[in-house]
Amino acid sequence: MWATAAIPKTVPLVTTEQIEATITVNGKIYEFMQDLYCFSRGSGFTEYLNNKALFLGYGIDDPKYSDYAGKDANGQVLLILAGEPTRKDGTSWLTGSKEPSVWTTDWRKKIDLARNKGAKALLVLTPQLAKKAQEMKSYINNPEIMQLEADAIGRNPKAKMMNVFYVSDAIADRLLRKKTAEYCQQRINQSGKPYMRRIKTPYSLEIQKKINPLSVENVLGYIEGSDAVLKNEVVIITAHYDHLGIEHGNTYYGADDDGSGTVALLEIAQAFTQAKADGKGPKRSILIMPVAGEEKGLLGSRYYTDIQPILPLKNTIANLNIDMIGRVDDEHTDGNYIYVIGSDKLSKELHNINETANQRYTRLNLDYRFNAENDPNRFYYRSDHYNFAKNRIPVIFYFNGVHADYHQPSDTVEKIDYEALKKRTQLVFYTAWDLANRPQRIKVD
Ligand SMILES: [Zn+2]
Repeated sequence: MWATAAIPKTVPLVTTEQIEATITVNGKIYEFMQDLYCFSRGSGFTEYLNNKALFLGYGIDDPKYSDYAGKDANGQVLLILAGEPTRKDGTSWLTGSKEPSVWTTDWRKKIDLARNKGAKALLVLTPQLAKKAQEMKSYINNPEIMQLEADAIGRNPKAKMMNVFYVSDAIADRLLRKKTAEYCQQRINQSGKPYMRRIKTPYSLEIQKKINPLSVENVLGYIEGSDAVLKNEVVIITAHYDHLGIEHGNTYYGADDDGSGTVALLEIAQAFTQAKADGKGPKRSILIMPVAGEEKGLLGSRYYTDIQPILPLKNTIANLNIDMIGRVDDEHTDGNYIYVIGSDKLSKELHNINETANQRYTRLNLDYRFNAENDPNRFYYRSDHYNFAKNRIPVIFYFNGVHADYHQPSDTVEKIDYEALKKRTQLVFYTAWDLANRPQRIKVD
C-alpha cells in the first residue's frame, strides 16, 4: 500500500479500425456486408464451430407469446426473426392492434434477453441485408467508439459476452434447410404460437478485428484509515475528469461536466488529509478516484470494477459519485439544492446518513425526482457510480441537472456558482466522513 499520494493507473482501451466477420454454412462462405454484418462495440474475437444452434422463432419472451418457454438457450447459438408474430392483416399477436410491441421498436430488448438466457451468439435474420448494411456502415466501423481492451477481445470476466450477427435470408435458409425461414415465419404468424427448430447443418462463425490500442489513466488517491481493523474497508469517491475534447475546432471545456466534480474531489482529499495530519484521520480508508473515459461509456470506472479493483470490492462499503455540481438548472431559482440519485436503492442506511449530514451541516434542498424507478432520463445508469451499484455496492450520485450548456462548448468556468459548488462538496464530505467513522459498516439491504 502506498501512503497519502495519488498515483495514476493505466486503463487499456482500444478503438476498432476494422471489423469483419465470416459465416460458413455447409461449405458455403458468406461475405461481410453482403450477407452479414456485426458491430465493433459488443463483439469479441470469436470462432464458433458447429456449436449447438437453435432457430428460436422471434426470440421473444412475453406473457402473451414466448419463444423461450420451456427451452434452454444456455450456451447455444440462436437464430431469430426480426419483428414479432403478426396476422395476415398486419395485427400483432402481442398488441392485438397494428401497433408493434416494444419487442419490435426497442432493438436492445431481444439482445438483452438472449444474453440473459446465456446464449453464446445471436443471429438476427435481417431482410434486405446488403441494403441495411450500407445504411448502418458508419456505425459498423466507427473509429470514434472506444472500448475497454478486455471487452474488445472478449476477455472481460465480468461482462457476459454475446456476439450479435445480422444475417441474410440466404444464410438463414441454408442453416434451416428444407423448412425455410419464410416457412417458419408463416407458421408462427398464422397460429400465433412459437415454433422452434434444432439446427443440424454444419457451420462456423468468425469475427476478426483490427484494433488500435490507446490508454488513459484513472488517478487513485489513497488515504489510509487510522483504525487497525476498519482501515481495510474503504469509501470510494469518484468524479470523471475527461470531457468531450475538441470537435470540429470547438473546445468543449466541461467546467460543470465534470470540472466541478474534479475540483470537489481535490477539496475533499485535502480535508481528509488535513484531518489525518492533525491526528484525527478517518477510521476507514478513503479512495479519491478521478476516473477517465466516462463520456465514452463509463470506461474508467468499469475498468476499476470489472478488471482491476485495486482494493477488494467486498471491502468497498460505498461509492459517492460527483458528476456536475457547479450549476443551477431551469427547475430551480438558486443553487441551494442538489439532485440525489440512488441513495436508497441498495442501502436505506446510506440514504439516512446523507440526509442527516445535510440537516446538520449543509441544509440543501435534496431533490429526489430523478431517483424514481421509472424516470425516463435513467440518470441512475448514466454515470460512474453505476459500475459500483451493479456490484451491489451502495452509491449516491450527486448531480445538479442538465442545462443549456450541457455538452456544449459553452460549459465554461465563469458560469460556475461557487457557493453552490462549495455547499454540495461539503455535503459529500460530511457523508463520506460519517461512512468512514461509524462503528459498523453500512448494511446492504
Ligand atoms: Zn459527466
